[in-house]
Order: sequence, then structure tokens, then C-alpha cells
Amino acid sequence: MTGETTIDVLILGAGINGAGLFRDLCEQGLTCAIVDKGDFGSGTSAAPSRLIHGGIKYLETGEFRLVAQSTLERNLLLRNAPHCVRPLPTVIPIFSWLKGIPAAIRTLFGSTTAPRSRGALLIKAGLAIYDAYGARNRVLPRHRMWGRARALREIPPLTPRIVAAGHYYDATVTHPERLVLEVVLDGLRASPRSIALNHARLDGTDGRLVRVAGPHGDGHVFHPRIVVNAAGPWIDSVNAALGAPTELVGGTKGSHILLDHPDLIRALNGHMIYFEAEDGRICLVLEHLGRALVGSTDRRAGDPDAVRCEDDEVAYFLGSLRDLLPGLGFSEAQIVHAYSGIRPLPNSDAADPGLISRDHSAPLAEPAGAREWPILSLVGGKWTTFRGFAEEVAGTVLARLGHTRRVSTRALAIGGGRDFPAEPGRWIREVAATTGAQEARVAALFDRYGTHARDIAAHEGPGPVPLPDAQHYSEQEIDWSTKHERVVHLDDLVLRRTDLAITGRLTRRGLERIAEIAAATLGWDDHRRAQEVDMTRRLLEERHRMRLI
Ligand SMILES: Cc1cc2nc3c(=O)[nH]c(=O)nc-3n(C[C@H](O)[C@H](O)[C@H](O)COP(=O)(O)OP(=O)(O)OC[C@H]3O[C@@H](n4cnc5c(N)ncnc54)[C@H](O)[C@@H]3O)c2cc1C
Repeated sequence: MTGETTIDVLILGAGINGAGLFRDLCEQGLTCAIVDKGDFGSGTSAAPSRLIHGGIKYLETGEFRLVAQSTLERNLLLRNAPHCVRPLPTVIPIFSWLKGIPAAIRTLFGSTTAPRSRGALLIKAGLAIYDAYGARNRVLPRHRMWGRARALREIPPLTPRIVAAGHYYDATVTHPERLVLEVVLDGLRASPRSIALNHARLDGTDGRLVRVAGPHGDGHVFHPRIVVNAAGPWIDSVNAALGAPTELVGGTKGSHILLDHPDLIRALNGHMIYFEAEDGRICLVLEHLGRALVGSTDRRAGDPDAVRCEDDEVAYFLGSLRDLLPGLGFSEAQIVHAYSGIRPLPNSDAADPGLISRDHSAPLAEPAGAREWPILSLVGGKWTTFRGFAEEVAGTVLARLGHTRRVSTRALAIGGGRDFPAEPGRWIREVAATTGAQEARVAALFDRYGTHARDIAAHEGPGPVPLPDAQHYSEQEIDWSTKHERVVHLDDLVLRRTDLAITGRLTRRGLERIAEIAAATLGWDDHRRAQEVDMTRRLLEERHRMRLI
């Protein structure tokens, strides 16, 4: 157990919202600690549809403030994290000309039960408004409407039932799990006295001190001035553990599957299809790292620690795809990975979970009884809007602690987006020349890590050793990550530092080899290594529908 550490802010939960706030406060010169019971970004932040989007569907519920903020934040992320946030051309298939206008008006005025189906006129109006909101710091082209013939030419397997299609741009994030880690590491870079702990358990509090059990049997005692509860769907259980019970979140569960489906990937040709499933819910299918990502469901949630994609959700996805793309075959055998998460939405009595607000808030519990510090709970929020949400909450924290903002995060590059070259080709050639790595290899690393590729290429040198069955990763790359990226368990590596699990490219042999590399750096003995392999294999099978061969 270390002695008592006095800090300005203790943040419980290192999903994107906790991480975003941590970075912002560190940039302002505060000393903070961020603690997660699992890995950084292992909760809901690892389970999104991977869109960095303005939230076109929130126009329907009249959440214009959220659309304005989200489109701005999308545009900022495209600039600040260009290594993993990229433009995404999107197609909305349309099945009628006029449908949906009365229902849309009722929804706009607060109805939570109006049936939904959106015709061409409504979608055209929505896309025009969306373009207008996206004008601030615009980086993406405006929308177009496609006639039926054009839509079927662009995406031939689309159902011939369509009458037209809308075409517009949003953005996608290739490695959200890595981006959370990068945001945390950027915070530490700005404030070296701050502390970030993953796999660390909240052990109790007397209202003044907060005890945390670290990942290596280490104990920490923090004396914070403010506590921030950024535990997403676990917010109420963390507040209860802090002695300040709440009922703030009533999350909904959402699942995704990834398919190994080359014909579908070819048909998508880089587009996302954002479509209405039979029940009027909006679903999506897009290419993600060479696989087809399909999502998502929206159901009342259960235990966030046991969430998984169930058989009926898989049937819903496959049925919706068969309707949308009747020219292609779909089966369970194509699934290489599945994941689920719980949206930490505000408590609501809406009949349809899809109509619960996706906006965020940060209610404050003042000190009470033996508890010396206030608790700010970060409720709701999109992945996309984390920076803006952090900026708002940081404003409250700074005012409370008598500090003023000294750095804006608006134009602050993140992780491998820092010093991003205007001409990647030249940068790649220069790094290849100085590290001895092949240009093609540097290009692949640059695509994955942005400018951090320089360090990894230097670590690999001229002879990267490919991982068994996953040749696009090298053994040195895994070693680099283990040494520099706060790896504690084997699943940190396969689920979050790399894309080996989500793309279904991990084999038994690959997993064993990764465990050997991690064991050498982390000092695991044979027993611990076998335990890590076993735990990871079970996690992948039970929670992610994977079968390692
Ligand atoms: C199906 C689905 C699709 C989505 N798609 C998108 C999308 O495409 N685009 C978008 O912008 N948004 C999307 N979202 C929303 C977005 O993912 C979430 O709003 C966001 O990730 C929430 O982040 P968070 O940091 O609040 O919560 P989380 O990421 O859940 O973080 C909370 C953290 O708290 C930790 N924790 C829990 N208990 C404790 C404790 N006792 N002590 C310490 N730590 C603890 C957890 O381990 C976890 O890491 C989607 C969400 C879902 C579920």
C-alpha cells in the first residue's frame, strides 16, 4: 500500500468519457488519477457501431443541439485523429416517396410511439438540414440523392424494392479501443504527475480517502478534491459504492456481428448502408478492417458485466440483411466475431428504447455526511461527442477548484494523429530510410498507428517476424505494445491493442505465441501464461462467438 496521494480529481472509469475528461484536466495543469476496473476502453467504448457521426437520426427526435455538437465534433476528430477517424460515404435506401411525414412530426413534438418509415422527401429534408449543421469546420462533401437506377448500379445486390437512395458522408473510427488508450496516454504526457491505472478495483472509501487495489497487488490511497464517476452503465453501482446511491442510468443493450463475406465487402465498395429494418429501427452495415460490420440492436439492458450477442439478435441481423440484399447469401457460419455493449442512457420511461435521448449530462452530488468531496456523474453521451462533453465538465471542475482553462482541446491532435504529415508518402519513405524497415511495412504501420508507426518500425527494424496465422502483425509489434501500452492481461492485447480478435484472424497458435511474447516482458511463469491463454480463449468463445482453430 502506497501512502496517501493528494490529487485534484479522481476519475472512476476509463471509457472514452473518463479518458476525455482526464486528458482535458491534465492539459489544464491539474493532477488527476483515472482508474478502471477493467482495461482502458473495455466497457461500452469498445462496443460502438464505430461511427463518428453527426447523428442524423437525432433530427427525428428534435435533438438539434446534439446534432449541432456531434457534427462539429465529427469534423474536429477527422482533423485531430486522422490516423483512425476517416470519412465514410453512406447510402440510405429509400422505399417510398412520401411516407413518414406525419409520424416524423409527431415524434418531433415528443411522441414516443409514432410508427416510423421514412420516405424520400423526409430523407432529402433531413440530409439538407444535416449538411447545414455540418458546415462548421466542414471537411466532408454535401449529400446527393440517387435515383433507383443509380443506386442499383452503385450497389447491385440492393433490393429492387427501393425507389431512390440518399448519399452523404459521416465518419468511422478504425480502432476505438486504441483511441481511448491514446487519449489517456496523452493526458499522462501533459501531466506526468497524474496517474492512470487499468485493472484496478475501487476498494472502499471513508468519505475522505479512496482506496484502490492495483493490478499487481499494489494498493493506492487517493485524497481527491473532486470525484468524477465516469463508469458508464456501471454509474449507479459506483455511486452506491461511494455511499451516494443514484438511479441515473437505464441503459439499453446493443450488439454487432462481423462477417467474413468478400462478396458483401465488394458490393459495399467502401460505403456504409444505413437502412431501416422491418421494425423501423435503423441498422447499418459497413466494411470494418476487411470484414462486414452489422449492427445494432436496442434492447432493455441486463448486467453490463455479462453482456453478449444472443441468438435472436443474430437472427434479426441476418434476416434484415437478407431483406436488404437479396442477391447475397447470409448465414451464421460467416460470423467471425460479435460484441455487445450497454448504452449508458439516462433513465427514461420511453416505450421505444430507440427514442431515449442520446444527449449527455453531468449531475453533481454535493458533499454530504462524512463525504468531503462532490461527485460528478457523466451520464449518456456519444463516442463522437467525448471532447465536447469533457470540455463542459472540465469547465465545472475548473470553476470549482478555482482554476482557469489554459489549453483548448479543440485543435489538439490525439496520439498517432500528432505531427500528422500532409504528404504521407514522403513521411513513409523517410521513416523507412531511417529505420531500415521496408516502405510497404511502414505504410501498413502508418495506416494502423499514424505517426507512432515511427517507433514501432524502429523496434521492428528490417526483419519483422510475422505472427503465426496473422501475418499482418509482427512479433516485435506485439512486444512493443506490451512494453509501452499498459498491457496487463492477454485479452488487452488481442481485443484492444490489436484488431486480431475483432477481425477473427486470431488462431490458437497465434494466441499461444502472443502469450509467450507477453510472458517474456511481463514476467509471467508457465502457469500464469497458460491461465491467461485459457481465460482469453473462454472470453472470446463465450462473449464474442469466436471459435479458435
Ligand atoms: C451498441 C452501441 C452502439 C454505439 N454506437 C455508437 C457510435 O457508432 N458512435 C458514437 O458516437 N457512439 C456510439 N455509442 C455510444 C458510445 O459507445 C457510448 O456512449 C460511450 O462509449 C460511453 O462511454 P463511457 O466512457 O461513458 O462508458 P464506458 O465505455 O462503459 O466506460 C465506463 C468504464 O467504467 C469502468 N468501471 C465500471 N465500474 C467501475 C469501478 N467500480 N471502478 C472503476 N471503473 C469502473 C468500466 O470498466 C468501463 O471501462 C454506441 C453505444 C452502443 C452500446
